[in-house]
Amino acid sequence: MLFNELNLSQELLDAVDELGYQDMTEIQQQSIPLLLEGSDVVGLSNTGTGKTAAFGIPAVESITESDRKRVAVLILCPTRELAMQAADEMRKYAKFKHCVRICAVFGGASMEKQIHELKRGANIVIGTPGRVLDHIRRRTLKLDNLRCLILDEADEMLNMGFREDIESVLAESPEDRQTVLFSATMPPEILAITEKYQNDPVKVKIKSAQKTVESIKQFYFEVPMGRKTDALKLLLAAYSPTSAMIFCNTKAMVDQLTEELIKSGFRAAGLHGDMKQVQRTQVMNGFKSKSTEILVATDVAARGIDVNDVEAVFNYDLPQDNEYYIHRIGRTGRAGKEGAAYTIISGRRQLFDLRAIEKFTRAEITQLPLPDKDEITALKMDSIVQEISSAESVHQAYMILDRLAVQGIDSREAAARLISSKINDAVKNLPEFKAPVPLRHGRRKDCKTVKVDINIGRNKRIAPNFIIAALTDATGMSGRDFGKIDIFDAHTTVEVPETESDYIIDSTNSMRINGHQVEVKLLTEDRIREKPARREKSSRAPFDRRKSAYGNRKKQDIFSDYIPNRKKRTKKRH
Ligand code: ADP
Ligand code: MG
Repeated sequence: MLFNELNLSQELLDAVDELGYQDMTEIQQQSIPLLLEGSDVVGLSNTGTGKTAAFGIPAVESITESDRKRVAVLILCPTRELAMQAADEMRKYAKFKHCVRICAVFGGASMEKQIHELKRGANIVIGTPGRVLDHIRRRTLKLDNLRCLILDEADEMLNMGFREDIESVLAESPEDRQTVLFSATMPPEILAITEKYQNDPVKVKIKSAQKTVESIKQFYFEVPMGRKTDALKLLLAAYSPTSAMIFCNTKAMVDQLTEELIKSGFRAAGLHGDMKQVQRTQVMNGFKSKSTEILVATDVAARGIDVNDVEAVFNYDLPQDNEYYIHRIGRTGRAGKEGAAYTIISGRRQLFDLRAIEKFTRAEITQLPLPDKDEITALKMDSIVQEISSAESVHQAYMILDRLAVQGIDSREAAARLISSKINDAVKNLPEFKAPVPLRHGRRKDCKTVKVDINIGRNKRIAPNFIIAALTDATGMSGRDFGKIDIFDAHTTVEVPETESDYIIDSTNSMRINGHQVEVKLLTEDRIREKPARREKSSRAPFDRRKSAYGNRKKQDIFSDYIPNRKKRTKKRH
């Protein structure tokens, strides 16, 4: 269905035309007519499906000359970026409709400026729940004439703890208002809000993520523990995306990774909630204008952000939630373009989590080997050919060639030397990876074992499950590959297959157990022997009797298993 088949005013049709939209997206087709009629709507649709226009166009259309000095539409968004982005979009819809005044209000920006803008007669207000409520309480935002309240990304607002604020805003607005809610998911909390605050809502649900995800090719790389940053650098060098987003789970990781990438010469910037508004705006502008190639962000900071032409999304950390995976990769492949999503995983547990994501998205996530130096060199050679063939020559260059010719270096030789230094520059600092270690399968009955020693023990409240979780995580091996575990006061010994001992020691060099950085060494006979702490509990069955009990369980499960024992033990000692 085309936009001009809707009964929209000419001003709106012209604006939509100028944006280059012709066909409506599914969510737009289904919700715009309902919204124009004044129905309450719950719209469920994934990111990148055009929800802003779905609610924004009817909102702008609803404003009339008599709304000059009163707020008729209020839109709540989870973050400042989203509020700004929605405001920018809606100003485009309102380009030819001069009675529409749009004002964005959000925290971290000047209150006075927002008050001034509101006073000048805004009729559509877009803001974050906290700041909107702030304005309502100061009476700088009056909702007496509000006709329509829209909650954009409602699930995310609830996740962020805005429930009370949202309910307060709802309570402050006239009862006969139109209430519209857009969300990517429908958790029970949303249902509760819908039931309580909406009037006979029509539910519009666009089938799953399929459509958004189909245009995105998904891959993953398995890398040794502690090597994700190196792997990422290699990937960025190989693909040289002009615009990419990298997702981390924590603000600290965003900062750390951004710094690492900048040090390695990438044009990267970080985005997270602890940054000041000016900084965040600066980062977003840099990324939108492509002067920043790589945006490293947390989920919350990046939620819903719409930047065109993001070539690739990298998951540095696996998302904590399957839905987040879809939101993340939805940053690329927008508006019908192709995109790629790359997930970097370490350890067996993350492989299981990735498989769960694959099931959830019902799309294939294909494993790829990390590119090696030769491949990267080949790619760089292509780009050097490109660069040189599109470069212009300068007079001085010929002068240099003439001087070299005197020394017996002809033009061909000179060019070869220059090019080879270019190639070297491109690949000289690339991290190296050993050939990938395959996951080990099969039981290890009767295999020859040795013991490794880990410098953490009972005094740090370590349990066998902690040790196994950390070891399987670090090595990608299965729980059944490890034998007896003896926990002593200040250290722990673990029986391991002799053939794997080097590999285990190698891959555990940055291992942490229960938050403590540990050292793993081969156990030599001259080590002082202490009596094991809790022999019966801590020793594990021999290889052949044990089943793989840890592989497919989450860390939390393993840990929570052990908590009662831990408590008991602490009590006893006091
Ligand atoms: P969502 O809020 O669902 O994540 P957005 O409203 O941010 O999605 O829209 C995603 C992108 O699709 C934007 O770049 C927007 O300009 C574009 N878009 C929206 N509707 C249409 C349409 N009908 N035709 C073409 N592009 C559209
Ligand atoms: Mg949106």
